[in-house]
Amino acid sequence: RAKEGQKSYQVYSPAVHTQFFKRLQLEQTLYKALEKREFVLHYQPQVNINTGKITSMEALIRWNHPEQGLLYPNKFIPLAEETGLIIPIGGWVIDEACRQYKLWQQKGYSDIKISVNLSPNQFRNQDIVTVVKQALDRHNLNGHWLELEITESIIMQNVDNIISILHELKRNGIKVSIDDFGAGYSSLSYLKRLPVDRLKIDQSFVVDIPVDPNAEVITTAIISLAHNLGIGLVAEGVETDAQASFLKNRGCEIMQGYLFSRPLPVSGCDKLFNGGKSF
Ligand code: C2E
Ligand code: CA
Ligand code: CA
Ligand code: CA
Repeated sequence: RAKEGQKSYQVYSPAVHTQFFKRLQLEQTLYKALEKREFVLHYQPQVNINTGKITSMEALIRWNHPEQGLLYPNKFIPLAEETGLIIPIGGWVIDEACRQYKLWQQKGYSDIKISVNLSPNQFRNQDIVTVVKQALDRHNLNGHWLELEITESIIMQNVDNIISILHELKRNGIKVSIDDFGAGYSSLSYLKRLPVDRLKIDQSFVVDIPVDPNAEVITTAIISLAHNLGIGLVAEGVETDAQASFLKNRGCEIMQGYLFSRPLPVSGCDKLFNGGKSF
């Protein structure tokens, strides 16, 4: 009995209180962060291993928290999704990525695309097509430079609705990729029906090449699946030469990961472009 007593005491412990208030505080500061312009985007190149050229830059959000410093998305995106703040924050991401991309285009960094991550809620709660088209118009950009990254979990929702949204994005030239592919538990049959352009092989498989034979088998299967369906591929989380050559040998030529570059602030990206860096 003493144990149970201890347990219920735990619920009211100062530690739990502290946790609760920390979260509440985070929620309040998150709410104000947009207004105070505390979010920034970093960008990570996707590289074609055969040409050594950058094919795309993926925008990844960070929060310059006034007290806690630079926070990574795992610290605040789940909260933003729970509270619905992901809608305005996600809208800002789309606009900011387009704005930055336009600047790069004007500087002559051509033939590079821009990739933006979308949360499932952004598909559910708003007219995502309008939001994206307005951002493109505002910055005078052609949709064909933009790629949206969605996760498999999106498909668990209203499939017919998702399909019609994807078709409308496609009509505007916008590309769509499935992020973290293979990590979810959705059925493969949806792939036939969804007009998606690329699969991003989840980094949990890539990280275990060549240590875990299962990771190699799954990666190889995803690559041949994409090839057979005529869908493009990107491998993410590529950190070693061994991983890169494994992927290259199996026909996956677009890669992203620390082996090439970490996500960089805009200043770092400009250096990368100016140096005409080839990988
Ligand atoms: P993700 O879209 O799967 O992005 C890849 C994550 O892996 C990024 O973490 C990136 O920094 C990291 N990464 C890249 N290369 C390597 C590597 O070689 N090794 C390892 N270990 N990691 C690598 P980050 O920036 O912390 O983002 C985490 C997640 O947060 C993203 O996963 C994405 O789901 C989400 N996220 C980021 N930005 C946004 C955004 O603007 N909107 C939404 N809705 N979600 C975002
Ligand atoms: Ca992504
Ligand atoms: Ca991913
Ligand atoms: Ca991920």
